[in-house]
Amino acid sequence: MEALKRSVRSVLFTELLEGLSLTLRYMFKHSVTVNYPYEKGPLSSRFRGEHALRRYPNGEERCIACKLCEAICPALAITIEAEPREDGSRRTTRYDIDMTKCIYCGLCQESCPVDAIVEGPNFEFAAETREELFYNKEKLLENGDRWEAEVAKNIELEAPYR
Ligand code: SF4
Ligand code: SF4
Repeated sequence: MEALKRSVRSVLFTELLEGLSLTLRYMFKHSVTVNYPYEKGPLSSRFRGEHALRRYPNGEERCIACKLCEAICPALAITIEAEPREDGSRRTTRYDIDMTKCIYCGLCQESCPVDAIVEGPNFEFAAETREELFYNKEKLLENGDRWEAEVAKNIELEAPYR
């Protein structure tokens, strides 16, 4: 009996017609996929992407070399060296992140008292060599300059939950 049913379905192309009707139904529905990289989906303001070091609006570095981020990093990915400046303020002379070690936990940005180190919205930083993923202070500050508008907006959105 089961074999007969299967034969009838094959002869009448029932499965084929069911498949076609399903295709037709979805053809006119709103697409759930995006044509990446030309289109991108929305990102949460809490998204933890590529790291950046931020500056104040006058161009001064935010980081005060307190080393809390270095101390809390579970992957030991951050290396900081610091010296006092002539005016007595304390700033880093070296700020490196080994992105090959980073696990994107976000603890560095959570620990920072001045919102200097952040994980920005950039997720497109794939590299071809390991060396390209050894970020230094210059690279991190460049990232900060590039993503400041988006990062500042996300920090403002998250402020009520901090
Ligand atoms: S995100 Fe986590 S693992 Fe990566 S540098 Fe920050 S604290 Fe370290
Ligand atoms: S980035 Fe923030 S937590 Fe890390 S050393 Fe600078 S001020 Fe301190």
